[in-house]
Amino acid sequence: TGKFFVGGNWKCNGSKESITKLVSDLNSATLEPDVDVVVAPPFVYLDMVKNSLTDRIEISAQNSWISKGGAFTGEISVEQLKDIGCKWVILGHSERRHVIGETDQFIGKKAAYALNQGLGVIACIGELLEEREAGKTFDVCFKQLKAYADAIPSWDAVVIAYEPVWAIGTGKVATPQQAQEVHVACRDWLKKNVSPEVASKTRIIYGGSVNGSNCAELAKQEDIDGFLVGGASLKGPEFAIIVNSVT
Ligand code: 13P
Repeated sequence: TGKFFVGGNWKCNGSKESITKLVSDLNSATLEPDVDVVVAPPFVYLDMVKNSLTDRIEISAQNSWISKGGAFTGEISVEQLKDIGCKWVILGHSERRHVIGETDQFIGKKAAYALNQGLGVIACIGELLEEREAGKTFDVCFKQLKAYADAIPSWDAVVIAYEPVWAIGTGKVATPQQAQEVHVACRDWLKKNVSPEVASKTRIIYGGSVNGSNCAELAKQEDIDGFLVGGASLKGPEFAIIVNSVT
């Protein structure tokens, strides 16, 4: 479905020195032309990366404020992100849901505001280990999808990232079958609850311990339309392998 999409979520990692090296590795990497490639540096390096990285790769933020900027100490507005040439924002990441305590409703508001202002949204969803073990994977994902659906104006600029929390940063990647099963269920949910058109057009990417060795098998799955990569996106050559795993 749609163009393969690979995002690198750098999270709260890197320094001027390591990011300069990463940008230079990405600039010299050979990337398949038919893939959307996006990287999400920490806020303080966004402008530096935007100015030194090839235009072949777009820039994403890792968060954005729920409304127009102003008296919101410590926040970064969508307007500011657009001002520096940022095209995307990652919202609903499990680290923001479970470490920082963001709710479905708060995330939905942020997504709506970002989309209304013209940013693309990488909308994350995914279950905890105990939720999977209790057989609640689909319920959790559908509830998170519904919160986006209830809030956002349109799905045109949304990429859904399915990231099972137990797979994030653990080295325990979902099997291709496990990921495919949830992606199909989410597409089906979109078909029933949004529209068949949105279901067929919206890219659903997988995240959680994706690396250069496991990406090819995952990429073969019918409903895996790309990846959101954490740890392995901090290494330019490995990230390029993942970008080029498109099938
Ligand atoms: P890892 O690839 O490090 O497991 O992180 C995945 C992730 O959370 C991407 O947003």
